[in-house]
Amino acid sequence: MTDVPATTTDSGAPAESDEHSLTAGPGGPVLLQDAYLIEQMAQFNRERIPERQPHAKGSGAFGHFEVTADVSAYTKAAVFQPGTRTEVLARFSTVAGERGSPDTWRDPRGFALKFYTSQGNYDMVGNNTPVFFVKDPLKFQHFIRSQKRRADNNLRDHDMQWDFWTLSPESAHQVAWLMGDRGIPRSWRHMNGYSSHTYLWISESGRRSWVKYHFKTDQGIEFFTQDEADQMAAVDTDYHTRDLFEHIRDGQYPSWTLHVQVMPFEDAQDYRFNPFDLTKVWPHSDYPLIEVGRLTLDRNPVDHHAQIEQAAFQPNNLVPGIGPSPDRMLLARLFAYADSHRYRIGTNYQQLPVNAPAVPVHSYSKDGAMAFRSTTDPVYAPNSKGGPAADTARFGTPPSWEVSGEITRSAYVDHPEDDDWGQAGTMVREVLDDQARTRLVDNVVGHLLNGVSDPVLERAFDYWAHIDADLGRRIREGVRAKAGEKDPKAEKQANPARESMQHKA
Ligand code: NDP
Repeated sequence: MTDVPATTTDSGAPAESDEHSLTAGPGGPVLLQDAYLIEQMAQFNRERIPERQPHAKGSGAFGHFEVTADVSAYTKAAVFQPGTRTEVLARFSTVAGERGSPDTWRDPRGFALKFYTSQGNYDMVGNNTPVFFVKDPLKFQHFIRSQKRRADNNLRDHDMQWDFWTLSPESAHQVAWLMGDRGIPRSWRHMNGYSSHTYLWISESGRRSWVKYHFKTDQGIEFFTQDEADQMAAVDTDYHTRDLFEHIRDGQYPSWTLHVQVMPFEDAQDYRFNPFDLTKVWPHSDYPLIEVGRLTLDRNPVDHHAQIEQAAFQPNNLVPGIGPSPDRMLLARLFAYADSHRYRIGTNYQQLPVNAPAVPVHSYSKDGAMAFRSTTDPVYAPNSKGGPAADTARFGTPPSWEVSGEITRSAYVDHPEDDDWGQAGTMVREVLDDQARTRLVDNVVGHLLNGVSDPVLERAFDYWAHIDADLGRRIREGVRAKAGEKDPKAEKQANPARESMQHKA
């Protein structure tokens, strides 16, 4: 007798051994009738589900969100009413890297939240950056492919990245941000989260407001330099994953204070920037931050696969009081995320414990692979048999806006100060200090020296000169001065190996 449970098969019958397969005699062949061995092999072959495309590498934790202020004048959403406390799941991630890739690659970070609210799940699938590289969803797939791997050698390729960026000048603001200090956070605890998108809030009285979310880290912003990040990628691929897990395990719970920028509905029409353009921020001086509450993470997952890998965040999980805006990227994501979960996890992914809401589900969805929530009759609506009936009088009209115009394929309508370079230039000149600007130059020079050649290289110099003339000049001079040099890091890595080979010879 031991005090550990006896191993069973997946159907609960006692397993005969943890160590020895069933064989015809000690020296004989393994037998097909060893059902336990076959179950182990078959299950093992099916352990991996398709990784996310993108945001494959990441981890997360559970916690809660507490409303500390009163924003009920702007939204009737239960999750944001004064004093409300809601259970939350957060997942942080890189964008381009695969599941085993280093946490410290230069990349934006995903900042995805699932609020298990009293009105159903509300998901905010944000990033640690307030803007993005593109503003039309037709370009998103191409953008991600340019950041991932080539077809021929399966390598990432800076030439491909800069080719896309320089042909897509709307990327300038996000690229300037990415190449700066915030492009490699020291840990997930030391970065902000932003909705990036604009959402539409509606209050109980019907007042409509455009809103952007800012989750500001209470740990303070900290970053890795490129050299520190490269070193960390070599010694601890999973540094950010480990950092979050160990701090929560040790009771050092990270938190973020949520603020919103609120734009009166009527302002959108004439605002100096298009407020739905994902490549632009709303300057704080135009729309100051208003405090909402605090997000705290205090519980680690016990099963990464079940609770994080199978977690399904989707921006179409909206609740009464919160709606989408005309941001084209957001509108496309409302479809794309749920679609990817159906492929990646399976049609009934919302029945999994981590994705299931905290409130009862009374939908008419039924059947499909791996369904385990029981469907009850009647299975159709409308019905006179006591089945659920939509409360259209209360919930029939989601927050919305007026539209007109012919069906078209066209760019956003520019507002007076919209252009691709302006806000990036403001950041470089007015937000960064001299040291941060120098690190930005060094980061870009290092990136361009790593495989970018003319004509893409020449376009990259022009791109930076458009953001800021002086910065463009420094980058051009930096690259041209070092162009003849070999990559010192690669040299350092190659030399010891070569030396030891020579020694042996
Ligand atoms: P502010 O001076 O009010 O805000 C500047 C903001 O820049 C700060 O609040 C901080 O955002 C952020 N910031 C600080 N250091 C860095 C860095 N190294 N890299 C990236 N961002 C940094 O000016 P504005 O609101 O007028 O914005 C000016 C520029 O600042 C924008 O063009 C944009 O590039 C950048 N920015 C603006 C944000 C906004 O929502 N208005 C948010 C983030 C950046 P935080 O307080 O969120 O940490």
